[in-house]
Amino acid sequence: MNAVFGKTGTCTAPAVWLVEGYTFRDGALESLDRTVYACQAHVSVAEVGWLRGLAPHTRSARGLHWCGTFTDYEPDAG
Ligand SMILES: [Zn+2]
Repeated sequence: MNAVFGKTGTCTAPAVWLVEGYTFRDGALESLDRTVYACQAHVSVAEVGWLRGLAPHTRSARGLHWCGTFTDYEPDAG
């Protein structure tokens, strides 16, 4: 499992939410593909736009993170 880190948006506020993006197949949870941190003002933007269509599951962020910081999880090639 490789992870790619990055930053989306221009917000520099501390994040209070961790939005997880899941892929479902045939109604069953298949994988956690992306997570993105969001401040209160951007949590809805994160759930709709920053997840690129993945199903959101939002939980309280733990520790100090910045709004728009995301992690993409990619399955190992081969
Ligand atoms: Zn924000």
